[in-house]
Amino acid sequence: MKKQIGIVGSGEAGLQLAYALRKEFDVTVIHSISADEIRDGRIMSTQVHFGSTRKRENRFNMPKWDVDQLINSIHITIGNQKLFAGILKEPASSVDQRLYFSNCMKDLKNKGVSFRHQRIENEQLERLIDEFDLMIDCTGKSGPLVPFPIEEKLSPFKVPQRKCIVGYFHGIKPNHPVGVSVTVLPEVGEMFEIPAITEHGPVTILFIMAIPDHDLDVFKGIKYANEFTNQMENVVQKYFPDIHERINKENFTLSDERAFLQNAIKPVIRKPYVTFKNKLVVGCGDSVFLNDPISGQGCNLSSYCVEQLYEMLIEYKHSTWDHHLGEAYWNRIKPFVKEVTEWTNAMTQPLPQHVVQLLLKGAKDQTVADEVAEWFANPSKAHEAFFQKTTL
Ligand SMILES: Cc1cc2nc3c(=O)[nH]c(=O)nc-3n(C[C@H](O)[C@H](O)[C@H](O)COP(=O)(O)OP(=O)(O)OC[C@H]3O[C@@H](n4cnc5c(N)ncnc54)[C@H](O)[C@@H]3O)c2cc1C
Repeated sequence: MKKQIGIVGSGEAGLQLAYALRKEFDVTVIHSISADEIRDGRIMSTQVHFGSTRKRENRFNMPKWDVDQLINSIHITIGNQKLFAGILKEPASSVDQRLYFSNCMKDLKNKGVSFRHQRIENEQLERLIDEFDLMIDCTGKSGPLVPFPIEEKLSPFKVPQRKCIVGYFHGIKPNHPVGVSVTVLPEVGEMFEIPAITEHGPVTILFIMAIPDHDLDVFKGIKYANEFTNQMENVVQKYFPDIHERINKENFTLSDERAFLQNAIKPVIRKPYVTFKNKLVVGCGDSVFLNDPISGQGCNLSSYCVEQLYEMLIEYKHSTWDHHLGEAYWNRIKPFVKEVTEWTNAMTQPLPQHVVQLLLKGAKDQTVADEVAEWFANPSKAHEAFFQKTTL
């Protein structure tokens, strides 16, 4: 008989895990919102999937997207000085999570994975842990359900470092070569412009990361789509002239009424396993590794951890699943979690001088520009550049 696994959460981590594990184990996904509610709901992320994540999606036979607007480059601007467009070795993509998740849920159901529509409350946990050979907490930033201990050294912040302000828009001419544009306004915040695919066709995501109470933090109290659009246009006109020049006023509009969000993330990293009455419970994704979205690594780190957890569960398939497995999982992923987290946390602070120098060098040297673009696809390289002060 196959071992039974319960996955709580039907987001990036939970769904990818279901694809990875479904052939070897008996998988049940427990989710608080239905596929249709997700599809008709509010946007959740900007979800750039870099090359290694897209490879894992292929490995686990996840749905393929007809992405005609792949992300091939990372443009870097500091202040009003455009520095370069670095070319990614492998293209990235951004597919609206509302479309992506709802599609995956329907596809997994057709492939025989069980789904249970239920929001798990704390008092139901014990029964759930008893029911499965392993429960995996993939409840994202609203989690975790179980008290995974905080890793204090990797969790230095007491409050969010940015306010996230995101809208999916029609009416912006793409930059060239098509890619993510990052504009850093020192002491104010950042703008990420990202081409993405939605149910309503291609869009341009405008993602402001505002340092709280500074000049970009001007969306407080905005609740309606038209107010949000007007305020975004004002901010773009004032602070991001390159984007403003590419806006066609006639059709500058959100892709749908729910295509905007505002939130703020307090980063926190947890040890991703506990034993509960001698039974192992593990965490995967934001429920245990919650980073600021500034480096665009949340989906990518979730996907990395999914693959590592899958490998561990296959390795331990015929052994007891106890704290040894939990410890082995954590030991295996910790170096990468640490690199992603330290780099991401550093990105929320003023850029170190040696990094600024590297970026300036990228303006004159395309090889350096391409290496900088790779930081986002391969955060170990970014970590090396930030902390080991490598000169490219
Ligand atoms: C503004 C913003 C921009 C971002 N941009 C990027 C980016 O460009 N690239 C990138 O890699 N990452 C990005 N991220 C991060 C990325 O979206 C997350 O890291 C990723 O979605 C985490 O996946 P997850 O499965 O852990 O959580 P989620 O995708 O949030 O899924 C969690 C699921 O658990 C369900 N759930 C929660 N509690 C319960 C419960 N009690 N019972 C049942 N179900 C429950 C929720 O309904 C949800 O479906 C961004 C995040 C934000 C906020």
